Amino acid sequence: MVESPHVVRAANLERVYGQGDVAVHALQGVDLLVESGEYIAIMGPSGCGKSTLLNVLGCLDRPTCGTYELDGRDVSRLDPDERATVRNETLGFVFQDFHLLARTTAVENVELPLIYGPVAPDQQRRRALAALARVGLAGREAHTPRELSGGQQQRVAIARALVTEPALLLADEPTGNLDSETSSEILALLDELHQKGLTILLVTHDAEVGARAQRLIRMRDGRVVEDTGAAPA
Ligand code: ADP
Repeated sequence: MVESPHVVRAANLERVYGQGDVAVHALQGVDLLVESGEYIAIMGPSGCGKSTLLNVLGCLDRPTCGTYELDGRDVSRLDPDERATVRNETLGFVFQDFHLLARTTAVENVELPLIYGPVAPDQQRRRALAALARVGLAGREAHTPRELSGGQQQRVAIARALVTEPALLLADEPTGNLDSETSSEILALLDELHQKGLTILLVTHDAEVGARAQRLIRMRDGRVVEDTGAAPA
């Protein structure tokens, strides 16, 4: 198979919620190409379609029309089970409120995405420990989320997102629940992961977060109104 140079190749994405008079056109023809290794921030006013786009790109939702290839595979018409497999194999997710299992240790949280994948059981713990070390949490493996600070919990969530070695990391307001100092630490970690080759696409309201990315996309009324484009290699 010829490897696609694009992690994301989306054309004319539309998403309509509801029908008839109450239909909401949340995405109105979004085109997006993302190359491997890019770091992209999507910004725009509340209601402009950022979450809808992230849900479609994250295979949590299907576009009403348009085409979407993720890592070289057409994923725009998959059923929910197939989308779940694609999410597990190809994507990592980071959320504003971490989404960790409360009574589960850091290393067990990070192992979770491996349970249904191809990694042999005896390798899962080793991979999870390595992912925690990558985010600076060596020594905290046995702590449960309540025994960790907000910033450390987000690091666990980032390790969980990385443990499957995803083609794309998607993040929804990853620093939205953190104070400014902790937020800076998480942004520095994302910078470092990007420098090591990770492809990142995040959604944010925060101009400081947006400014860290290499490429900024602004949306309004379901459309891309500005795209600073891929930085020259
Ligand atoms: P943002 O993330 O930029 O705030 P959203 O993608 O959440 O924007 O929403 C885009 C538009 O779609 C808004 O008008 C919102 O009210 C509408 N919308 C989002 N989700 C739904 C839904 N499940 N049902 C109906 N309308 C929705």
